[in-house]
Amino acid sequence: MDSLPLPPNVRVSRHPLVAHKLSLLRDKSTAPKVFRELVRELTWLLGYEAMADLSTQAREIETPLEPMTGRQVEPKVGLIPVLRAGLGMVDAMLELMPSAEVWHIGLYRDERTLKPVEYYNKLPDAATVQLCLILDPMLATGGSAAATADILKAWGAARVKQVSLIAAPEGIATLSAAHPDVDIHVAAVDRALNERGYIVPGLGDAGDRQFGTFAGPSSEPGHGEMDETAAVVRRLQRDLSR
Ligand code: URA
Repeated sequence: MDSLPLPPNVRVSRHPLVAHKLSLLRDKSTAPKVFRELVRELTWLLGYEAMADLSTQAREIETPLEPMTGRQVEPKVGLIPVLRAGLGMVDAMLELMPSAEVWHIGLYRDERTLKPVEYYNKLPDAATVQLCLILDPMLATGGSAAATADILKAWGAARVKQVSLIAAPEGIATLSAAHPDVDIHVAAVDRALNERGYIVPGLGDAGDRQFGTFAGPSSEPGHGEMDETAAVVRRLQRDLSR
């Protein structure tokens, strides 16, 4: 697929360290321990960029020498890892933003309707944070991301951003069409999704590569009903080429 112009809400990091670490991450010879370290380091770098526009307010402090007016970040931040691969991005974000709240939303794809279905959501009635960062290393079809953004906006989050290591054009198109106001911060936009729902060239299954679960059954791409996965991918690619 030819690369299409990216919507204005997509921010692809241009940082050389990001490009360097992402190549190490993609390499199939990278073992889970190093893979996890790289996910953490890349999340740190992307998180730094994703939070570059946070508002700050004045705060009076005293240095050992004299009083001064410092700054403190204004919005409360919530981290929403997409289970399970997004879990590996949480600790790095908490290092950047120790006061962030971590909220879990579980979604699976209904095999009949192919729509994301919520199976876990313990969000309190009213939003407790203003900015929500959805964490998922791979923005593939965009279905879970769009559904998660729906839930967070209905909850009352004033602002939602997606932070992913790699995105497929199909995932960007789905999320941006549903939520043009959701900024998407990524290290790279790859060529396409394959018929098994994997991003290519990608890095394989981000969950398996972090957690070393290469032999187990999984709900990740390539482990479901192949015909249905391929049909979803074909539909997304048709939408994208219109
Ligand atoms: N999820 C993954 O882990 N890898 C992909 O390529 C797509 C979705």
